[in-house]
Amino acid sequence: RISPPRVPRVQSSPSTPFNSTPDVYELHPDIIASYGTALSGAVLAERCSAELGMTSVIIDKRDHIGGNCYDYVTEDGIRASKYGAHLFHTQHARVWEYVQRFSEWIPFDHRVKGRVPVPGAGPAGDKKLVPIPPTQETVNALFDAGVRDEDAMARWYESERVAPAHGGEPANGEEAALSRVGPRLYEVIFKHYTKKQWDKYPEELDASVLMRLPCRTSTDDRYFGDAWQALPARGYTRLFENMLLDDPNVTIRLDCDFFAHREKGTLPKHKLLVYTGQIDSYYAALGMPKLEYRSLRFEEEFVDAPDGGFFQEAMVVNYPSADVPFTRVVEYKHTPNQPNKIKKGAVRGSLIAREYSCADGEPYYPVPNPENRALYEKYAALAAKEPGVAFVGRLASYKYFNMDQAILNALEMFDNLKETGTLAPKR
Ligand code: UDP
Repeated sequence: RISPPRVPRVQSSPSTPFNSTPDVYELHPDIIASYGTALSGAVLAERCSAELGMTSVIIDKRDHIGGNCYDYVTEDGIRASKYGAHLFHTQHARVWEYVQRFSEWIPFDHRVKGRVPVPGAGPAGDKKLVPIPPTQETVNALFDAGVRDEDAMARWYESERVAPAHGGEPANGEEAALSRVGPRLYEVIFKHYTKKQWDKYPEELDASVLMRLPCRTSTDDRYFGDAWQALPARGYTRLFENMLLDDPNVTIRLDCDFFAHREKGTLPKHKLLVYTGQIDSYYAALGMPKLEYRSLRFEEEFVDAPDGGFFQEAMVVNYPSADVPFTRVVEYKHTPNQPNKIKKGAVRGSLIAREYSCADGEPYYPVPNPENRALYEKYAALAAKEPGVAFVGRLASYKYFNMDQAILNALEMFDNLKETGTLAPKR
């Protein structure tokens, strides 16, 4: 019942259909962005055009724009994401102001529930549906903590938390979690979810990974604490179309592989390459060890949900226990940017995606730990000396950026390239 993702109907311009043969050699842009129609490449192409009048060719090996943000409407009329849920949130005014230019946004406070094993109920025992990140409700439901206000919750954390034995800052994910919530919440919410997500226990990961989730003393059960939380009214793909497609300075070539062209010497001449792929792939010929990335697999199912109803209680339900093989289940109908038919409850059934983490496949996540960071530094040292190339984005900077951080990073990269004279207005 699930229709294949569709390539957007709109084309960059009648003379440059972006699904044509990937013959890019005859084009003469100022910049090219490899693998580039995701956030970083799109922001740089957009800025270079709008502020400097520079031309870009963006090549992307996929058959659609938008990178992992790509969404589409299924034959049942549900807006779904091909690469998992994307919840936009930011505290950066610059980013919020920037994204307003390309879409209307519908406020959406993302709330996640977890099906969490009740302590003592055994490996596949009873589970309760509780807010994640942990709030007063979470610890009351799981541990009968009897917490009624913020002070009591702060005292509860205080009585549970275990500071690192070395007395310093948490050195890894396990120390980070234990020093915030203590062993009981760690066991039921963090330890096994992390193992499933990364195939590593928290002690094998940087503290920062486990610090992504807030731990609340309040009753605030929102997943993010940022000032702005919203979804693009007509989806992310439309946002990318609005950024790029009507711009005569931007040419897009899909199904177009950067490495194949590099090998054949058929990349167009350019002043600057914006490289947004994996940094280790750029230097593959050097034979250095590869960086680790984590991928995802989505198992989609159209499920029965009568009378416009829902399959589950929230858009995302996490499964942090070891007995369930997936990490979370996404149900798209919950988002406020669904087409009207869905919003009115006129569609029977619902689309869900079970999310599995895996080692092979499209790279989604860098794996933040000391070994990978040390290896990345070696690649970064090469990149710093690479003339005419800007390495930007999650894969090229090997940073666990959220969407807003990727946008900010690309905007700041643009500022730097201007300041150093690498990019200059076209006369
Ligand atoms: N995490 C966890 N249990 C949860 C949710 C998150 O242990 O129920 C940990 C896990 O290590 C995860 C990290 O927190 O990788 C960051 O979670 P987030 O939801 O930010 O990950 P993303 O949405 O980027 O996959």
